[in-house]
Amino acid sequence: MPLELLAVPCLSDNYAYLLHDPKSGRTGVVDVPEAAPIVDAMTAKGWALSDIFITHHHYDHVDGLAELRDATGATVWGAATDAQRLPPLDHALAEGDTIPFGDERAYVLDVPGHTVGHIAFHFPDSALAFTADSLMALGCGRLFEGTPAQMWDSLCKLAALPDATRLCSGHDYLAANAAFAQSVDPDNAALAARVGNLHDMRQSGAPMAVATLAEEKATNPFLRARHADMKARLGLTDAPDVTAFAELRARKDRF
Ligand code: ZN
Ligand code: FE
Repeated sequence: MPLELLAVPCLSDNYAYLLHDPKSGRTGVVDVPEAAPIVDAMTAKGWALSDIFITHHHYDHVDGLAELRDATGATVWGAATDAQRLPPLDHALAEGDTIPFGDERAYVLDVPGHTVGHIAFHFPDSALAFTADSLMALGCGRLFEGTPAQMWDSLCKLAALPDATRLCSGHDYLAANAAFAQSVDPDNAALAARVGNLHDMRQSGAPMAVATLAEEKATNPFLRARHADMKARLGLTDAPDVTAFAELRARKDRF
């Protein structure tokens, strides 16, 4: 039975994600921007928190952690490389580690770039990946700590997951990301269709920062850095993929 997913809007544009295994009752949350909306969502569902998964050290992903852990006694999982600047971890994780969760297993992926110690959690049986501020809906995270080459490697690693994987990212930046994407990829029909749906999505309360990898490959300008038509528009026809990615990231920073 697949895990149940619930996106919980937090702060001004963050998402936390609740994951529930109906069989074992195990319930996890990915990132804790603030505790109250997560507690409210769990209470409404009748779920008891067992695990807290942390993607990276930024305050808008960990600020509610201490309060939520004190309230629930949940086990905290996060990156070993950032253990010294994360709240206290029960389990320090590295690439390739797996986490048993009900009948499933989560796989830890190292996805540096936005921060050096950014990790993602992949649940292959439920076709879910929690990517926070690495690969984001219609975008990618800013390079606060890493290099373009690190982020490009991270994006390629995530792009190698199965196409049906639902990517759950950290923020609703859809309006700004859509405007940038259309500015660099004006003739992309799949992009136009996705952008055309955003208003209805928002009205219906759908989780804005969740999309399949197939959708991202067709519409996310950063994943399209490898395509000849994108490189040509950037004036980088013969450049390596990572150069086109770096140019797109620099343009987005100025956009
Ligand atoms: Zn961040
Ligand atoms: Fe963030």
